Amino acid sequence: MTTKAIPIKTLSFDELKEKLVTMGLKAYRAGQIFAWIYHQHAVSFNEMTNIAKAERELLAAVFTITAPTVLLVERSSDGTRKFLFRLDDGHTVESVLIPDEDRQTLCISSQVGCRQACRFCLTAQSGFIRDLKASEISDQVLEVSRVLRREGSRDITNIVLMGMGEPLANFAEVTRALRTITSDKGLGISPRRVTVSTSGLVPEIGKLGALGLRVNLAVSLNASTDEVRDRIMPVNMRYPIRELLAACRRFPLEPRRRITFEYVLLKKVNDSPEDALRLVKLLRGIKCKVNLIPFNPFPGSEFQRPDDAVVRRFQQVLLDHHYTAPVRESRGRDISAACGQLRERAASALP
Ligand code: SAH
Repeated sequence: MTTKAIPIKTLSFDELKEKLVTMGLKAYRAGQIFAWIYHQHAVSFNEMTNIAKAERELLAAVFTITAPTVLLVERSSDGTRKFLFRLDDGHTVESVLIPDEDRQTLCISSQVGCRQACRFCLTAQSGFIRDLKASEISDQVLEVSRVLRREGSRDITNIVLMGMGEPLANFAEVTRALRTITSDKGLGISPRRVTVSTSGLVPEIGKLGALGLRVNLAVSLNASTDEVRDRIMPVNMRYPIRELLAACRRFPLEPRRRITFEYVLLKKVNDSPEDALRLVKLLRGIKCKVNLIPFNPFPGSEFQRPDDAVVRRFQQVLLDHHYTAPVRESRGRDISAACGQLRERAASALP
């Protein structure tokens, strides 16, 4: 073969089917190959024993099955585990596995770095490096799932796109990855168990709703006034709170589903009872819950975490107005699993 081998995981199911047919192979082989890769975690065509040897050799000449390298795994005292992936070009991204009683959630990244420049976020400080390709996003799920199967642990049950990057700023690749993650032929995780978290890109929220992928939407609101949100999340100058919430109201929800609003509590910035009351008013009429996240400090950060009593006071206002409003502690703090911290530390420790 003179042409370069095609990384097979960059192809959708239909694209693979088409390609196989042009190679003179049967279209149904696509189903077998997808099952081997995404269900059996095969890393070579040789393992695909229900395909004749001659065909396996042809496949191996045309395609490659590549996977990112897992560079570092750390386990926190609370059970959280962190995976650092090295990509083809040497850049790294992280995923965090968060076990709970009834679920095993994997938090994955969509970009190397981020352009959103949120002032309270560590990832923002390294700036934007590049978008992840669809396969680099779904591979985070596949590779962690492989590790879990090998050790006989419970498989991943939920996916959140809350790692590094702004998923909706990498719309085409993220939605392509979501198809691989949620389709039965691919990783087969129900879209009800997949959540895309955004800083609030209004047009893309509309586009995501229109695609009908039926994944959950989380919106990082983090403020109750445009004045404060402008200051801590520059994206708000383009898409202010009113427009953002209008987009949320238009977002199609399946029965019994609701939007999640994330609210990072920053000491004396957005944590007053007045803020909580304004938040209640803003959210009126939206089927939603609010995740309260006390700020997770990092070296050099300009913000502080509010005292527990302040967090509880804020929460109580929401509860009094019948909102579901759990306080979400950052998990894995002892291994700096929260918000881009692993990559920061690894960058200085790695060769
Ligand atoms: N760009 C997407 C997803 C990545 S951020 C988004 O903005 O939603 C995931 C979540 O982590 C967001 O809700 C964000 O507000 C929160 N976050 C970022 N830095 C944080 C910090 N230092 N402490 C607590 N939460 C943080």
